[in-house]
Formats: sequence, structure tokens, C-alpha cells
Amino acid sequence: MKFGGTSVGDAESIARVVDILARYHAEGHELAVVVSAMSGVTDRLHAIAAEAESSVEEPQIAAFIQALRAKHMKALEAVAPSQVEEVGAVIDERLWKLEHILTAVHVLHELTRRSKDYIVSYGERLSSVIVSAALRERGMPSVALDGCEAGLLTTDRHGDALVLPSSDARINSRVLPLLMDTVPVITGYMGCTPEGIVTTLGRSGSDYSGAVIGRGIDADEVWIWTDVDGVLTSDPRAIENVRVLPYISYREAMELSYFGAKVLHPKSIEPAMEKDIIVRVKNTFNPDHPGTVVRRQENREKRVVKAVTHIDRVALVNVNGVQMVGRPGTAKEIFSLLGDAGVNVMMISQASSQANISMIIEEADLAVAQDVLSGPVKAGLVREVTADRNVVAVAVVGAGMAGTPGISGRIFTALGNEGINVMMISQGSSEVNVSFVVKQQEHHRALQVLHDEFRLSEECDDE
Ligand code: ADP
Ligand code: ASP
Ligand code: MG
Repeated sequence: MKFGGTSVGDAESIARVVDILARYHAEGHELAVVVSAMSGVTDRLHAIAAEAESSVEEPQIAAFIQALRAKHMKALEAVAPSQVEEVGAVIDERLWKLEHILTAVHVLHELTRRSKDYIVSYGERLSSVIVSAALRERGMPSVALDGCEAGLLTTDRHGDALVLPSSDARINSRVLPLLMDTVPVITGYMGCTPEGIVTTLGRSGSDYSGAVIGRGIDADEVWIWTDVDGVLTSDPRAIENVRVLPYISYREAMELSYFGAKVLHPKSIEPAMEKDIIVRVKNTFNPDHPGTVVRRQENREKRVVKAVTHIDRVALVNVNGVQMVGRPGTAKEIFSLLGDAGVNVMMISQASSQANISMIIEEADLAVAQDVLSGPVKAGLVREVTADRNVVAVAVVGAGMAGTPGISGRIFTALGNEGINVMMISQGSSEVNVSFVVKQQEHHRALQVLHDEFRLSEECDDE
């Protein structure tokens, strides 16, 4: 069971987490727990790390550490009053290390990717000991482990590390034996390289940790506890009348998360899928709601379209130029340049004239992309490269969609009737999604129009 940042966000929420775990523990289930940092903490760790590196004035490191201490001690005092001294000492020792590394970053004015990962992993290192203490306070034996101790080995791609296959056996030998007589609480988001260097798995990566731990211990199910009732038909912050999807397939969940459904990390499905482990998404604040079941089986008869999602903070890059026509290798060159520079291309579309290639990349990568693509422009291979930041990528997701005639027609007719201009379209061969790009200011309307067009707020009997 993985609990997200809001679920461990304060003492009251942690008490709910303990209630939930106590209930399933009493029913005889063996439980491994993965936790996120208390909500907001990881953001603040990223911010203070950046401030420590760049600030010319004295950064507010001591004040930051004090505030972090106060937040965590307050929670600890409420959920584990009899262990304040002992667990408080662990928290203080960790904060002491954190303060030192932040001071070192400031003195050197240098924040390497490695030091940053070490710093931002502290949110989970603080929350995990509190949740574990809270379980003991309730009479459940519990130990706290960090991701490395639990056996998560990763690549050295700091900030976005991938879990290595060799982790499975380590997790199995380290975590599984604990389950018989204790409930281990493991830090999400962090792992280590085989050399023992701390890494993080990307923002929202605790879901990925949860799935990997589940695969490692051969769990029956992986439960992702969050602050909404399950996977919804669209982003509840963007549009109205969203609905919980009772069932979705692994493939659908992967597409949804890849295209912005923040409730699941994009990498959190594959580990479960490899072993056919059911993933359940449930609400810590409404635990009796059945939530969403993610499984292999795909229902695609009656309701082909299941959800609409969006990703913002992206940029549309257009590579224009007649030189490309009929000349093999131009596309390869463009994408190799981007790939070598670490730019992640999220969507691609090429018109049949071959004179244009459009793509969607993360906004943060735009400067680098423009820089590397200026090479082919200077060499006369392409005429120009243009970019547009005020765009949002929208995806319509559902198994069997692209194989069902008329779906694309309905999507683009509905948008057209609303006067929403589509700037780029990409329909992969996956059959699970149709994605397109609209202007930033039109994306809420685009989501709502499609949610209404496919009647996603209404239940359907083959779900
Ligand atoms: P946690 O801290 O538990 O990991 P997150 O904030 O990462 O939670 O993810 C849950 C949030 O994802 C929800 O509060 C909701 O606002 C957002 N969200 C976006 N799209 C969806 C969707 N399709 N279904 C469910 N939640 C979504
Ligand atoms: N705490 C990390 C983050 O905020 C990981 C997670 O919550 O999943 O990104
Ligand atoms: Mg999350």
C-alpha cells in the first residue's frame, strides 16, 4: 500500500492511514507500506536546494530546517506521543545531515544532480519514520526502511532514475521476510545506484516505488492511496462532472498517466503488469469507496472512450523546410540531435508533404531544443524552426478506440463545432489514444467538450 503526500500530510491524515492499515492488518493481510513526503515538503526541498546554490546573500537554511522540524515534530507528537524522544532523535539526526549538505551547496555554489537527489530524498526519510512510529503506537510492529535498504537499485540518471531488474531479488530477500511479523514502512521516491549513491525516481515517483516493491515481494495487489476516489474520467481541477472509473486496463492507465493524469506515475503500471498484479487506486479520506481497479482485462465494446487528459507546460516545435522532401535521414538527424541533448519528445506528427515535422516537448527543454536544431538550419538542411509555448496537449484515451470507425471524426467535429482550433494531431498505432494540441486558453473547453461528447459522466454497463 502506497500513501501519497496528502495522505501523510498532517497528524490527522496519518491517523487515518493508521486506521486503514490496522483494519487490513487485523483481517490477516501481510502489508508493506510505501510513503511519500508530507505534502509540500518535496517542493520546498527543491526550492531550498536551488536557493542554496544560487543565492548571493545568506540563504535561509537554518530557518528552513527549523520549519521542517516543527512540521514533523508536531505530527510525531500527535501520532506517537510515547516515542517523541526516540523518534525525534532520528528526525534531528537526519535534519542535521540535511542542514550540512545544504550549507556545503551554498559554500561551493554548486548543486550537482547527485547532491540534489540526496537533498530532495529527505522528505520521505522524515515522513516514513513518523508513519512507522504511529503504527507501533497503535500496537502494530513496524520498522522504517529507506528505498536503498529495501533493495531498490536504480540507474544513475539522477532526478529520473530507472529501477534495475536486479532490484526484484533484493527486495524479495529484504522486505518479504519482514512481512511475517512487522509492517515495514518504506520511503517512496528514492533508490540507490549499485555503488550506493542516492537517486530519485522523478516527481511523483513514490507510485513507481510502490509498484516496484509490489513486484519484488510478489504482492497480490498494489494499492495506491490518494486524495480522490480513484482514476477519474478527467482532471477534476480542470473540468466539471468527472466520474470515477471502476475498471481500466493497464494499457489505458499507462496512456492516461503519460498524458497527464497525475493520480498515477507513468512508470507505476509496468512493474505490476509484468506480474499481473492488480493495482487499486483508493481514497485515504473515503476508504469505503471501491476506487478504481487497474488490470489486464480490457473492456472495449460499449464504452470505447474512457477518459480525457491533458499535459501542460509543453511546447510545440515545428521544423519546416523543403529540403526534407524525399531526403532520407533528415528525421533521423533531427531526433538524434534532440535525443543526444536529453530532450524528451512526447508527440510527433509529420505531414505527408514531408515538408514539416511537428513535435511536442517539455517546455523546460525548449531552449536546449532550439539550440541543437539551429545546427541543421545553419547547414541548410531545414529552413526554419518555430516554437509555441502557449499550448496544451490533450489525449482521448480508451482501449480499441483507434480501431473503432468514427471516433476521430467525433472528436474533431465536436471541437470544430465549438470553434476550437487544433494545432497538431497524433494518433499512435497503440489504438489506445488520440492526442492533439490546442492553444492554452482553449484547453479547459476542449476537455469539457469531449467529456460531454462521449458522455463520460454517465455510467456504462460494460465498465
Ligand atoms: P498523491 O499525493 O496521493 O500521490 P497526486 O496529487 O500525485 O496524489 O495525485 C492525485 C491528484 O491527481 C488528484 O488530487 C487529482 O487532482 C489529480 N488528477 C489529475 N487527473 C486525474 C485523473 N484522471 N483521475 C484522478 N485524479 C487526477
Ligand atoms: N515526494 C515526491 C514528490 O513530491 C514523490 C511522490 O510524492 O510521489 O514528487
Ligand atoms: Mg502522486
